[in-house]
Amino acid sequence: MTTAVDPDLLLNLKKFGVKDASICFNCGNCTAVCSLSSESTPFPRKVIRYLQVGAKDKLLQSPEPWLCYYCGDCSETCPRQANPGEVMMGLRRYLTTLYDWTGISRLFYTSKVFEIFSILLVGALVGLGFYRFHGPMLTDRVALNVFAPNRVIERLDLIMLGVLSFFLLSNGLRLFLKVMGDPAQYPALSQSAKQQFQNRLLRGIPVPIYLSQFKAFVLHFFTQKQFGACGTRTQRVQWFVHLLIMTGYTLVFLLVVVGIRWFQRDEIYSIWNPIRLIGYYCTFAILYGVTYAIIGRLKKSKTVYEHSHSSDWAFLIMLWLTTFTGFLVHVFRLLEMPMSTYYIYVIHLMIAVPMLVVEVPFAKWTHQLYRPLVQYLMGVREQALKAAY
Ligand code: SF4
Ligand code: SF4
Repeated sequence: MTTAVDPDLLLNLKKFGVKDASICFNCGNCTAVCSLSSESTPFPRKVIRYLQVGAKDKLLQSPEPWLCYYCGDCSETCPRQANPGEVMMGLRRYLTTLYDWTGISRLFYTSKVFEIFSILLVGALVGLGFYRFHGPMLTDRVALNVFAPNRVIERLDLIMLGVLSFFLLSNGLRLFLKVMGDPAQYPALSQSAKQQFQNRLLRGIPVPIYLSQFKAFVLHFFTQKQFGACGTRTQRVQWFVHLLIMTGYTLVFLLVVVGIRWFQRDEIYSIWNPIRLIGYYCTFAILYGVTYAIIGRLKKSKTVYEHSHSSDWAFLIMLWLTTFTGFLVHVFRLLEMPMSTYYIYVIHLMIAVPMLVVEVPFAKWTHQLYRPLVQYLMGVREQALKAAY
């Protein structure tokens, strides 16, 4: 089987934050220290080698970049300061753009102008929409559902969810076809068996195998449990912060997109109401986790915070602002300040909507689907191989 070589690969990857891969001399130390590397999926040395020789197809078919949680162990021990952890991070950005058939992801990751322009454009459209179509602004009480009826917001949310899901899932399907369709992933099979196996994979591994492994997808999605396996106390703190952010934004996403009719009410729920408590948890989890990450990146306090791509900042800043303005909506409602509530609500959506529209299908939020998806697929592959032998 031949592999297409892209001589400009290393150069192109600089735009995605991969700066030091050329100085790697392939000693393998990084793979030896990585707690998540395994015999069947060794990393990061292998993919760095692919990168150095321009094996773009091989990279595209590699599950390994998605199995790394960027704990930083390998970067701290690399004798060449090639920063393999950051290389893996940059590779994930690059692969995201290759899975994305629209090309938007590539523009977002490689052009700060496009990134800022697209965020401002979507935000301005939301503001314009409110300016033109908002409901009456009652001032004798806070009446958010008169100003912006939750049934209307719900319909718009569901349309947005449908569009985002279409892009995200179609890109996820491309990831699936690449990662599962590479015969080289099945070294113990003969060439003809590999081809047969590949065809079989692409046509579909027996459904019971997918179903039996699906719990792994749910587990990895919600707990990021592999990150906890990275080892040291610092890394466990990092896992906890990651978990706070991830659970916070997943829960609040479900509340505002699917459960808006229960979340956006004009009566104030009692303090022990589960929806109110979940809202407080999400606010705390995101603000704490994101503030921790922002301070870490500003101070460059850990190896994993030393290099920040503009997309990292966009994600953190927008998530922080979305959460903070959402919290202010709640505070102004409690203080019975109608006009302040309406204005901050519009500002909140002018930040939240671009974050969702741009980040979920095309940028950093894609990791939330791709990483557990690959972990799940590796479990499926293992079971399918056992059944094939
Ligand atoms: S990245 Fe560093 S540790 Fe890993 S193989 Fe290259 S030189 Fe060795
Ligand atoms: S950053 Fe951590 S998880 Fe990722 S390759 Fe390096 S040691 Fe492994």
